[in-house]
Amino acid sequence: MFIFSGIRNYHRQLESSRVDCVTIVSDYISRIHSNKKLNAFLEVFEQEALEKAAKLDAERKLGIPMKKLHGVVVAIKDVICYKDHKVSAASRILKDFTSLFTASALQYLIDEDAIIIGRCNCDEFAMGSSNENSAFGPVLNAANPDFVPGGSSGGNAVAVQADLCMISIGSDTGGSVRQPADFCGIIGFKPGYGRISRHGLIAYASSFDQIGIMGKILEDVALVTSIMCRKDSFDSTMDPAAYADFELMPTGQGAAGKCCYFRQMLEHPALDPEIRKTLLASIDRLRASGWIIEEIEFDLLEFLVPAYYLLTTAEAASNLSRYDGIRFGERIEGEENLNSFYAQNRASGFGKEVKRRIMLGTFVLSSGYYDMYFSKAQKVRRMLLEKTNDIFSRFDAILLPVSPHTAFRIGEKEKDPLSMYLADMYTVFANLTGIPAIALPLAKHSNGLPFGIQVMTARGKEAAIMSISKWIFPENDPGQ
Ligand code: GLN
Repeated sequence: MFIFSGIRNYHRQLESSRVDCVTIVSDYISRIHSNKKLNAFLEVFEQEALEKAAKLDAERKLGIPMKKLHGVVVAIKDVICYKDHKVSAASRILKDFTSLFTASALQYLIDEDAIIIGRCNCDEFAMGSSNENSAFGPVLNAANPDFVPGGSSGGNAVAVQADLCMISIGSDTGGSVRQPADFCGIIGFKPGYGRISRHGLIAYASSFDQIGIMGKILEDVALVTSIMCRKDSFDSTMDPAAYADFELMPTGQGAAGKCCYFRQMLEHPALDPEIRKTLLASIDRLRASGWIIEEIEFDLLEFLVPAYYLLTTAEAASNLSRYDGIRFGERIEGEENLNSFYAQNRASGFGKEVKRRIMLGTFVLSSGYYDMYFSKAQKVRRMLLEKTNDIFSRFDAILLPVSPHTAFRIGEKEKDPLSMYLADMYTVFANLTGIPAIALPLAKHSNGLPFGIQVMTARGKEAAIMSISKWIFPENDPGQ
């Protein structure tokens, strides 16, 4: 059975004809089948993946040079549009809906000859932290199937964790790439807002949403990111920074720099003491290798989660108003008046969590409460931006946990959405401020489950995040 150890090694094996794409793709397909109980995939594109593999094998035989992602097996979250393929956002309301076009970022990967193996299960409309909100059943963590894989990109995380693909592409509005990566012991990277086109990504909260990359090898994550970070006229919110020389992977580790961590975040009573201890030990290791690391005060911690949930639910209520049974998805027949037609479609099409967020978002936008909630949360966002600019005028990066705890048992938090929301306190900061953030696997907890460390840098500093990650995670090198 093929063991994947990075795109560079894989390409070498292809070049020397030690492996071929058809065999590799068949391997992945059979692994996906034997791990069906994990429920990571909603659909596997078997036939076409094999056809593309055969085409690439034939091209290599003819001496046609390999493109950057030649034969790389990629899984996509079920919120990314792929022309003529189903996309459901793991929701009943979009069940059997077929994409009319391909997301720009996905097209860039296909243009480099990536093989798209299937679409992954997730929380409905990317709302959740456990993958229990999918209309198609929960995903199981491959480290222990009694535990959640995290969410909302839970299927993507497990697909990488269990070697069901080489790379997976998810979305991160408040941590949905980084937190499941943390729970599954893999890498999850959310580039800064506006770096990757959102065209073709089903919207949850448009001013927060970003496509993110999950993998096991840092170099692969950097490569795939650099291919996707490209200007796109279909997304007017893209960062106007230059993309032409966007080279992410530094050849060496780069010079040691200056980082900080927030005292209030590491001292928070919700943070698992073992995670805290391991994080501090890895900070010490970094110090010993030449980095200057300072503990600083951060007095806005308690505002992060409320501001995130007020603003994202408001945006979600507006974004999801388009699912009314007329233009998209499932339709209930037999209603004679328009209002009850809409109500019936939405009541039966959306799950509990999505409904909760639509109601909350509608409430915070309502005329009597707009100023009290929505405007206030916008002001908090502004304050956070100012604070962030100040921090990055003095430091290269911020180090922090990804989640206060490791994965929890399936069903454990289902009845307590608030405690699930509060656990987003370390990830939403990057989405509120639009900065890049990466989750790197760090250690195994004494409970047997993995957890990681998170690094954030200033906007536009994706390359810096990669070189700092290399310092933290030097063993993650696929070799020469
Ligand atoms: N856990 C967060 C939420 O439930 C993150 C979601 C996301 O990033 N898509 O909203």
